[in-house]
Amino acid sequence: MKSYKELSDLRNVRVLVRADLDVAAENGAIVAPFRAQRQKPMVDHLVENGAGVVLVGHIAAVPTFKPLVRELESILGHAIAFAPTLEALVPGEPGSLQLLDNVRHYEGEKDNDAAFAALLSRGFDVYINNAFAVCHRDHASVTAITGLLPSYAGMLVEEETTQLQKAIDAPPEGKVIAVGGAKAQTKLPVVKNFLDKAEKILIGGVVANDILHELGRDMGSSLVDDNARELMSGLDLMSERLVIAEDFIISEGKALDIGPKTIEKFTDAIQSARMAIWNGPMGAFEDERFAQGTNALAHAIAGSDALSIIGGGDTISAVKKIGVLDQFSFVSTGGGAMLNFLAGERLPGLVALGYYA
Ligand code: ADP
Ligand code: MG
Repeated sequence: MKSYKELSDLRNVRVLVRADLDVAAENGAIVAPFRAQRQKPMVDHLVENGAGVVLVGHIAAVPTFKPLVRELESILGHAIAFAPTLEALVPGEPGSLQLLDNVRHYEGEKDNDAAFAALLSRGFDVYINNAFAVCHRDHASVTAITGLLPSYAGMLVEEETTQLQKAIDAPPEGKVIAVGGAKAQTKLPVVKNFLDKAEKILIGGVVANDILHELGRDMGSSLVDDNARELMSGLDLMSERLVIAEDFIISEGKALDIGPKTIEKFTDAIQSARMAIWNGPMGAFEDERFAQGTNALAHAIAGSDALSIIGGGDTISAVKKIGVLDQFSFVSTGGGAMLNFLAGERLPGLVALGYYA
C-alpha cells in the first residue's frame, strides 16, 4: 500500500481526496462531528504543503452538503470552495480546498461505474483515500478511481489499518473482545475470526440472544436474528473462550440488557486484559433503563490499563454520552468497515490500494 508520505513535493499537485465526512446531522446542523474532525490532519498536511485539494465524500443524513459547508469549514479550519456539481469543480489552485457535494448523488458512484470514475478523475494528478469507513464499499470514488490515478493511502486509512491489524495480530493472551449490538450478519463473523485470536470473547446485546436461542435457551420474545443459525455454522459455541451473557434485564418478555452477574463477569475479564476491543452496545442503551450493561463495560474499559480499541456508531455514541470516550486508546471511524476488517475479510477499498499485496 503506497503511503501519502511518498508524495514528498505537494506544491501544485492536484489531489483528489476520498474523505469520510459522514457526520450525523439534524435540522441542518452537525450533531456528531467526529468523522469530519478526523479528516483535519490529512487536509492540513495537503493544504499547508501547497497542494490543490478537492474532497469528495457523502453524508448519509442530508441530501446536500450545502447547509453544512460553513460548519465543515470550522471543523476543518480552512475556507472551502463548494462545488454543487462535478462540472463546477476546477482542480486546483495551490493551497486551496474545494468540496464536491454528496458523491452518492451520482448513480455511477454506488455502481462503481468506470465512466463516472473517469469523469471524477479529470484534471487530477493523484488520488488519496482517507476514508477508512467506506473501504468495505466497491464504489467509484473508492475502487474504480484507483485504476485511473496514482493512488495512495491517507493518514486515516494508515492509522485505522495499523490499529485494527494490531487487534487481530496481537497474541491471544490478555486479549479480550466484547461484541454486542444487533445485526448478526456483521457481528458473528467477527466472533468467528477472533475465536482463536483472543483469550476471551464477551457477548451481549442481540448477539447473545442469537447464540443462546441456538443453544436451546428460551429467550421469550427477545429480538433474535433470523439468519443467525447459518452465520453460526462452523462456530464452536461450546468454546471456553466464549463468555456469553447469562442473566438479563427483562421487560415485557424481552431481554433488553445484560444482568448484574454478567456485568460482574465482563468487568472482571476487562480488569485483567492487556488489550480490549469493543463493538456493539450490551443492551438497548437508548433507554436509560437498559443502559447499565453498556455503561458498566464502558467504565471498565476506560478505567483499565488495557490498550483499548472501540468502534461502531451506536457504541461510540453510548460511550460519549457518559463522557469517557477520550479514555479509549483508539476510536475507529469505521462501522461496517471495522467489522469486516476484524472479521478477516478483504476490503475492496484496501485491495485497490494494494494493502493485501
Ligand atoms: P454499533 O452501531 O455500535 O455497531 P449496532 O448498530 O450493531 O451497534 O447495535 C446497536 C443497537 O442494538 C442499538 O440500537 C441497541 O438498542 C440495540 N440492542 C442492543 N442490545 C439489544 C437487545 N438486547 N435488544 C434489542 N436491541 C438491542
Ligand atoms: Mg449501529
